[in-house]
Amino acid sequence: MERFELLVKSARLPDGRTVDLAVKDGKIARLAPSVEGEAEYVVNADGKLLFPSFVNAHTHLSMTLFRGIGADLPLMDWLQKVIWPLEQRFVSPEFVYDGALLGILELIKSGCTLFLDMYFFEESVARACEETGVRGALGVGILDFPTKVASSADEYLEKVRRFASKFKNSPYVMPVVAPHAPYTCSPETLRRTRELADELGLYLHIHLSETENEVKQILSKYGKRPVELLDEIGFLDERVIAAHVVWTDEREREILRERKVSVAHCPESNLKLGSGVAPVPDYLKRGINVCLGTDGAASNDNLNLLEEASTCAKLHKGYLKDPTALTAPQVLKMATENGFKALGLKAGRIEEGYEADFILINPDVPEMQPLYDPVAQLIYSATSEAVDTVVCKGKVLMEKREVKVLDEEEVFKKARAWREKILRAL
Ligand SMILES: [Zn+2]
Repeated sequence: MERFELLVKSARLPDGRTVDLAVKDGKIARLAPSVEGEAEYVVNADGKLLFPSFVNAHTHLSMTLFRGIGADLPLMDWLQKVIWPLEQRFVSPEFVYDGALLGILELIKSGCTLFLDMYFFEESVARACEETGVRGALGVGILDFPTKVASSADEYLEKVRRFASKFKNSPYVMPVVAPHAPYTCSPETLRRTRELADELGLYLHIHLSETENEVKQILSKYGKRPVELLDEIGFLDERVIAAHVVWTDEREREILRERKVSVAHCPESNLKLGSGVAPVPDYLKRGINVCLGTDGAASNDNLNLLEEASTCAKLHKGYLKDPTALTAPQVLKMATENGFKALGLKAGRIEEGYEADFILINPDVPEMQPLYDPVAQLIYSATSEAVDTVVCKGKVLMEKREVKVLDEEEVFKKARAWREKILRAL
C-alpha cells in the first residue's frame, strides 16, 4: 500500500472532473479519479472545488497593526506624516511578530500560502512563518537613511547577510534582498544590493515607479527614468520582483521584458493612494510575468488576494473601456502560478510534480450559487467565506474554515493591546 502525507478525496476541478489528490514530500504525487493508499491525514473534499492557493507578491505583513490609520492621504504625506513616525516609535521585534501573526491569520483565511514581504526585523516574520507553516519570501528592508534597525548601508547589508545565513535551510522562509526604492536608495546602494544578491543567490524585491512624482524626482536627479536607471547599473534580471511599476514608457517596458523582471501589481493600494493604474494588459501582452500583491494592510486595507484579483480584472476593464482587457483565467494565473514563478517555485498548478499548495472552495455559499463557471465565479463572486480548506507544502493550515495553526482569539488579543498603545500616541 502506498503511503502519503495527505490524501484529499473527491475534490472537483474547475473542468468538472472529480479527483483524489495525494501528497508526498510536500508535492502533489498523484492526481487521479481514485487514489488508494495509506495517508497520515485525510480530507474529504466532498465535491468542493480544487484550485491552487494564492500568492501575495508584495506586502508589508506587520503593518496590519497600523490598519485603519491615516486614511485618505497622498502617498508622501501618508508616509512622512503618519507611517514613518509611527514606525520609528513602535516597530520592534515584538510588534513585527504580533503583526505578522495577524497578517498570517488573514492570509490563511483568504487562501494564500506564500507572501513576499519587505520590512524591518524580518527574523520575527520568519519565526511566525516557521511556527505556522506559511511560506514567506522575506525581504530585509534597505534604506539610505538611519532607522531603528541600522544606520548605514553597510549595516543594512550586514543584516541581510546574517538573516540569509540563519534561514538559508528553512523549509518555510526564503531570504530576499529588499532595497526599498530608487528614491530612498542611491544608485551605489542599489548596486551593492545587486552584488550581495548575486553572491548569496537571492532574489531582489523593490518598489519601482509607484507614482508619477517618483519618476519626476528620479529624472531630475539622475537624468533618467527609474527603470532605465536600474538597468544601467545592472540591477535588473529574472530574479527581480518589482512592486507597482505604474509609470513606465515604451522603452522601460521593453527593458522589463528583456530582463525578465516580474511585476507585482497592487491595484487596490494604487487606487487608494491615488498612484494611478499600471498598464497591466500591456505588460501581459509583451510576455512580462505579472503577479498580484496587496501591499501593506495600511494602504489597502486588507491582505485578501481574492478581492485583489476581482478588483484587478474590473479596474482594467473599466479603465480601458474593454470588458475583455483582462479575463478571469488570466487574473487567476496572476494570483497563483505567476507569483510562485516570480520566486522560482514550481507551484500554482494542480498537477502531479507541483508543490502541494492548494485550496478547496466551497460552492455551497450564497454568492457562489448557482455554479456555472467556477473560474469566473471564483474571481467575480467568491468572498473569503468560500475558502474552506488551505494546504501549504502538503500541510493543512485550515480545514472547514477552522485555522489549525493559530489561536485566533490570542492573535486578536495581541492586536487590541497594540491598538491601546498606538492610540495613546496619535
Ligand atoms: Zn509596498
